[in-house]
Amino acid sequence: MSRLIDGKAIAAAVSTRTAASAALLRERGITPALAVVVPTDDEGAAWYVRSIGRIAAQVGIECQVHRLPLPTDGAEIARRLSELSRHPAVHGVICQTPLPDGVDLAVVGSSITVGKDVDGVNPESLGMVTAGVPGAFPPATAAAVLEILAHERVPLPGRRAVVVGRSNIVGKPAALLLLAEHATVTICHSRTLNLPGVCQEADILVVAAGRPTMIGADYVAPGAVVIDVGINPVEGGRLVGDVDTDSVLGIASAITPVPGGVGPVTTVQLMRHTIRAALRANAMDETG
Ligand code: NDP
Repeated sequence: MSRLIDGKAIAAAVSTRTAASAALLRERGITPALAVVVPTDDEGAAWYVRSIGRIAAQVGIECQVHRLPLPTDGAEIARRLSELSRHPAVHGVICQTPLPDGVDLAVVGSSITVGKDVDGVNPESLGMVTAGVPGAFPPATAAAVLEILAHERVPLPGRRAVVVGRSNIVGKPAALLLLAEHATVTICHSRTLNLPGVCQEADILVVAAGRPTMIGADYVAPGAVVIDVGINPVEGGRLVGDVDTDSVLGIASAITPVPGGVGPVTTVQLMRHTIRAALRANAMDETG
């Protein structure tokens, strides 16, 4: 039988460590602060921003929400991100999506200073993560995938990892982080031939395609660990992942549910990165 991985429990464990580091900063008179630029009135984005605010408060981070007057454009978004990056009392800066049509996250994201780029959207951050150069943060979702695998004690060196999806914000950085842990990594995308066959080779299957329940039983090898990053709203207001969990239960050894899997761990990774940025900015020990 497959084990359902409890993302909320993992998030709680990370949160406790992060809150302890936040308390250390506050003892020194430093209030860790995360600035969230919101250039959209999308309902899903509003829900996510509220949840960031709630988790930030729990761990002791000040969450500043900067809603831009709409309509807005790339130049205005970049200006705000740049201004907040320069602010000495702000330790982390993120930009909420969706962005206005024609605005590219990597382009506006390059206005966030690498040291404050806690969701790894500046292409320079991705370059540093690729090169193994310290000082940059990977995107929080990719970091969450690795945190879950570490928490579940899934061995990575030498094992076959398959990542479905090659976005700069999830698939690509998740693959890079798996590679840095010495997994043998294959990245799949919409033009991959024989996707089920490639996925069947995986000891660890990470799916970030944004296609509701596309990964069924015929994609998963017996005993594989499946990390479902997808979050897809479907009829009836429910959320489903990219994996058809019911059909994979009993084949995979472990699987993250949606909701309650990668999502909660992603939010606390953002907090963890913000605390690390604040510790780094104040030349304090970054462990935790
Ligand atoms: P993107 O749309 O940017 O990327 C999707 C990727 O999946 C692309 O590389 C695309 O390939 C690939 N893909 C799409 N369809 C198929 C297919 N049929 N077969 C193989 N590959 C396919 O999405 P994101 O990376 O931003 O997000 C992916 C999912 O993760 C979404 O459901 C999103 O909501 C979720 N998400 C969850 C987060 C969390 O915290 N849990 C955070 C961020 C995202 P190609 O490049 O060829 O087009």
